Order: sequence, then structure tokens, then C-alpha cells
Amino acid sequence: MPIQVLDQSTINKIAAGEVIERPSSVVKELVENAIDAGATAITIEIKEGGISFIRITDNGSGIAPEEIKLAFLRHSTSKIKSIEDLMNVSSLGFRGEALSSIAAVSQIELVTKTADSFTGIRYVIEGGKEVSFEEVGAPDGTTFMIRNLFFNTPVRRKFLKTAATEAGYINALLEHLSLSHPDISFRFISNNQNRLHTSGNMNLKDIIYSVYGRDITKNLIELDVSTQDMHITGFIGKPAICRGNRGFENYYINGRYIKSHIITRAIEEAYRGFIMPHNYPFTALHFQINPSILDVNVHPTKMELRFSKNEFVYQFVLDAITDALNRRELIPEVKPSD
Ligand code: ADP
Ligand code: MG
Repeated sequence: MPIQVLDQSTINKIAAGEVIERPSSVVKELVENAIDAGATAITIEIKEGGISFIRITDNGSGIAPEEIKLAFLRHSTSKIKSIEDLMNVSSLGFRGEALSSIAAVSQIELVTKTADSFTGIRYVIEGGKEVSFEEVGAPDGTTFMIRNLFFNTPVRRKFLKTAATEAGYINALLEHLSLSHPDISFRFISNNQNRLHTSGNMNLKDIIYSVYGRDITKNLIELDVSTQDMHITGFIGKPAICRGNRGFENYYINGRYIKSHIITRAIEEAYRGFIMPHNYPFTALHFQINPSILDVNVHPTKMELRFSKNEFVYQFVLDAITDALNRRELIPEVKPSD
């Protein structure tokens, strides 16, 4: 075959494979966009684990009529202008890949309205091709409806798990998104059933209660420490509620659910001596870290993070948690069954 430049639709389908792996990837990208748009209330509805239907409604900024089609182009973003901005991103998105990727592999219906415009716009795009663009009445904010994910990439579709398993992934994701944003009210409905509802009242303990229940909530130690470039707030579990896996080690960095080897190591080192080997603690911690010591551009799904000052981050987290655990040694233990 002679060398040819791939057409845009093929490029988008290939790129979609990296960003959009399953229904939970769609939910992640769209909810993050809603958060970046300043929403204070976000509703997520799915049917059949999100495979046949996902609807995400937010009360954020909306997209201006003249920017809607632009938003669906690959590498179009309103969040950074140049590579220098990357070092200071505080928004969740910045690569401009989500909408073009989702559009390439599904049927999207978008209704959006900014506070400045008189009417909203309804935009339909299927498999990356525009179907319609028309004015409609709508409240301020944005609603995305995604139907028949991977309808035009049957191989991808075949690799999906059962609807119940896919719904489980979405549920876990939304628990993390709620814990990472106590200021936003989340509502999750799966097959017409309410699964999660948080109030957005800023109270992290309330969210821990709705996600993990009473036993965990009764055994927390509060943390609030800061130094130059870093502020840690939230809760760690008393040693009594440790688990045999890392599933309860939740932490969020500048509002992102992200993993960092440095932070995980520091947390586990702090608990050494307090819990048995091969047990792991409960944490729900928020790290506010000066973006200038972060590098978030390491992977398309942005799940890993690097620091320019590893040693400083490690020592500060280790000391903060060790101090909190030693402080609580003075307080009588509350058993999980109390
Ligand atoms: P990124 O989030 O990396 O900028 P996306 O492809 O996810 O890229 O979105 C492209 C652009 O569309 C965003 O930069 C934003 O301007 C706009 N956008 C997407 N979703 C929303 C939303 N829910 N509310 C307002 N604007 C949105
Ligand atoms: Mg985005």
C-alpha cells in the first residue's frame, strides 16, 4: 500500500481507543468537563451499564453556540493555550481529546445553553458526523446523551464486561468523584434506581458516610496540615479499620483521583507498626499542591502524576500521618462494632 495520510474519522477512531475504553471512561470525561465548567450539581443516568445510554446533566457554564462544533475537533480545548500553561493546569481536562473521541464511537445528543444566549442549542453527532444543529429552549448548563457506545467499533464492544460489571465501574468512579468534590452535588441513577446522592454541602465526612457507612465514619482521624507548596486535609482511618487490600486508600490531588507512588509509599510507611503487614489503611485525603511542582502530562488518561520534589512530598506526607496517628494514641480506641 502506498503511504497515505489517514482521514480525520480514522484518526479519531484510533485516538478514541486510547481515551475511551469503556462506558466509565465516557462518564469520567464528561463529568470532569462538567466540573471544569463550574457545575455545582451533576446528574448521571445510565442504562445497561452505560453501554446503551448515558446522560450527564450539569448546571455549569454551557458551551457558546459558535464554539460547539469546535469543541468536537481533536485537540480543541478552552483550558490551555500553550505548552507553558501545562505546568499550571488546575482544570481536570486540557488535552482536548474527549469529545472528539466519544463522538467518533457513539451517537451523541448535546443540549447546551450559556447564561448569555437567549436560546439553547441541540446538536446531534453520530460516529463523528454531524446530523443536526438547531435552536431549542433549555436551562443554563449542558446535557450530554450518549447512545450505543462502540456501535461502529464492534471489536471494542465485544470486549466490554456485563452491564452489571460496567455499572459497578461507573459507581466506583462516581464515589471517587464525589469524595474529591464535596462542593458539588452528585446524583447517580442506574436503570432508574438511585445509587448515590451527595448534597454538595462541603462536608467530606457526610460523603464518607454515604459511600462507606457508619463503621468507617466512626473511626476517622481528621487531618489538616500545610507547608509551602502543599496543604493536606481530610480523614485517615484508625488502625482498627484497616483492610487486606488497597481499595480504601483514597486520596485526591488538586481535585483529581490520581495515583502517585510517592504518596502511597508515604501513607503505608506511616502506618507501619500500627497495622499488621499486608494490611492497608483507610484514607480520604485531599492534597492541594502547588501546580508548579507537578507534572500531569504523563498518560492520556492522566492517572499518574510526577513531582519535581519527590523527597519533600514523601517526607511531609509521612510526618503528617505519623503525627496524626501518634496523637490519636492518646485517645481511647472506638471499636468498629460500637
Ligand atoms: P478538554 O476537557 O481537554 O478541554 P474536551 O474534548 O473534553 O477537552 O472538551 C472540549 C471543550 O468543550 C472544553 O475545553 C470545553 O470548553 C467544552 N466543554 C466540554 N464539556 C463541557 C461542559 N459540560 N460545559 C461547558 N463546556 C464544555
Ligand atoms: Mg475534557
